[in-house]
Amino acid sequence: MLVSMKSTATPEQIEAVKEKVRALGFTPHAIGGAQRIAIGITGNQGKIDPSHFLTMGGVADAISVSKPFKLVGREFKPNNTEINVNGSVIGSKELTIIAGPCSVENRDQIIEIADVLSSLGVKFLRGGAFKPRTSPYSFQGLKEKGLAYLDEARNRTGINIVTEVRSEETLAIVAEVTDIIQIGARNMQNFALLEAAGSTGKPILLKRGIPATIEELLMAAEYIAHQGNPDIILCERGIRTFETYTRNTLDLNAIPVIKKLSHLPVIVDPSHGIGRWDGVHPMSMASIAAGADGLIVEVHNDPERALSDGYQSIKPERFKSLLYKLEQLAAIIDRSIPLQLTENITSTNYQ
Ligand code: PEP
Ligand code: MN
Repeated sequence: MLVSMKSTATPEQIEAVKEKVRALGFTPHAIGGAQRIAIGITGNQGKIDPSHFLTMGGVADAISVSKPFKLVGREFKPNNTEINVNGSVIGSKELTIIAGPCSVENRDQIIEIADVLSSLGVKFLRGGAFKPRTSPYSFQGLKEKGLAYLDEARNRTGINIVTEVRSEETLAIVAEVTDIIQIGARNMQNFALLEAAGSTGKPILLKRGIPATIEELLMAAEYIAHQGNPDIILCERGIRTFETYTRNTLDLNAIPVIKKLSHLPVIVDPSHGIGRWDGVHPMSMASIAAGADGLIVEVHNDPERALSDGYQSIKPERFKSLLYKLEQLAAIIDRSIPLQLTENITSTNYQ
């Protein structure tokens, strides 16, 4: 249930509603809007009788929420969530671009790419230090050493860090370094990890599970929100279908559907979505055209020698020409992209 308060409601009236919710044995969540506040109620099994609230002072309405997800749903909070990470506002008109290698492989690699990306105006560097690999014999990441290199890259360039947490045991050290905690597709329903990561208070980038429905993704986000952490970025990264020419099937449908159901920002990972470097440009453009709030793209200086996901990684030059096209696209959909593209890149060749 959602109790929406009148714009004239006093702090005492708001507190009285919260107290009533607690007295009924449920949990109140104040959701602030620009004009007025609403109080979301969780913890109830069945329907709550709206008459508990309708006669209280300052209450405009009490409506039941039809969806299983509450805090992340638009019924609870109609206006978009914006997440300010050191001045970059995710979910705003400005598109968020996160780029970097799949894995942190060595110091020079990550410093070199951080320098290139920050010179382009990119504000977020991705790179896995703890890698969830299908095979235990594949490169598992540099772990603590990888985090230290990411930290150095941030200190040197000012770029924000996005890196994945693979387990609860390493959450504290990851959270200490990263600006956004990435929860990977394979961990989307690791509920203990979702709760622990949510309770750090850091923004969470939650990737859609490989076989997950949109509703399961939103319910996973609900676990994080329920910890009192509203800073969640949803990421469509492709789902498994019968198709074999691509690694996954990027579900562009998910963008407008999630945007309607949820107030959270939605970004797209075209690299894992299609799984091949020559598809990253078109799927990036398609994602932004479909309403995504940003992209997370695998960019590597030497993809042929990458220790993970080289085949789907693009080189910085190709990434630069993608950014140039994205800048043009952003303008026609009334969005912007914070870049420093000094050269006039005219290449349209993304093959
Ligand atoms: C990654 O971002 O490198 C990654 C492992 O992604 P996903 O969890 O979407 O497979
Ligand atoms: Mn990867």
